[in-house]
Amino acid sequence: MTEDVPTVALNDGNLIPQLGFGVWQVSTDDVVPAVRTALEVGYRHIDTAAVYGNEAGVGQAIRESKIDRDELFVTTKLWNDRHRDVVGAAKESLGKLGLDHVDLYLIHWPSPRHGDFTAAWEQMQEVRAQGLARSLGVSNFTQTHIDTIMQLIDTVPAVNQIEVHPTFAQRAMRAYNASKGITTEAYSPLGLGDDLNRPEIVEVADSVNRTPAQVILRWHLQHGHVVFPKSITPHRIRENFRLFDFELDADAMKQIDSVDEGNRVGNDPVTADF
Ligand code: NDP
Repeated sequence: MTEDVPTVALNDGNLIPQLGFGVWQVSTDDVVPAVRTALEVGYRHIDTAAVYGNEAGVGQAIRESKIDRDELFVTTKLWNDRHRDVVGAAKESLGKLGLDHVDLYLIHWPSPRHGDFTAAWEQMQEVRAQGLARSLGVSNFTQTHIDTIMQLIDTVPAVNQIEVHPTFAQRAMRAYNASKGITTEAYSPLGLGDDLNRPEIVEVADSVNRTPAQVILRWHLQHGHVVFPKSITPHRIRENFRLFDFELDADAMKQIDSVDEGNRVGNDPVTADF
């Protein structure tokens, strides 16, 4: 793993680099150059999903980089229409990625309308048993969804990947994850860019001579979240990686904490109907 980036120990004993690179909404044209740049900059953790349609490009950039597979941490996610065909879907993703395993495989959404997420969690265990994924987790799961799978299957998800950023801090959900030993992965860590212009955040950035994106990402790291900001812009990909030569003091952390106002920018897992 890259020296600069700390790792977080998951509840199954595996290590995950705390900073990665996300590729949601990165087109098939953009994905190879974006992931290539990220790997050159030093990112060793990539977060993709079957539904992003860019697993093949992620795999191509990884192969072209010639970086040892063992140095990389790759996550992909099971889409909602495959909750009853988890092993088949995992193999399909691996075929596109050109990998024999992923480091982390997630149920992307509980999608309760399908009524299948518990069955999916059960089948995920087989994905790991077959060596197709090293760690297993969930995404967009509320406390109720987690309690439901835990009642039936005795394996605690290693991570819950949920929307978290300063204006949508999800304190209760993060505390719940922590109480179960589940690592919180914070998606849309910049609030899709929404949080960057908040005056409180700009003020903190100015005070430490950093950009708003850097102080937001540093805030995540200091809260213990795993993050993977997305960018297709080379200078931002570099900027988002330069987080390990400064720290936010308690006042700065508090000031960023203070902007939490329930500003969800993605879908609500309770009402999402897809
Ligand atoms: P982010 O919060 O990472 O924001 C991405 C946006 O911010 C892009 O428009 C990007 O622009 C811009 N940006 C990035 N860096 C900077 C910077 N330094 N300065 C100014 N603007 C910047 O949003 P995402 O939703 O993409 O979240 C990150 C990742 O989380 C996803 O890519 C995906 O891997 C994961 N995710 C998972 C979900 C799930 O359901 N499990 C849902 C949503 C995301 P540009 O690219 O033009 O540079």
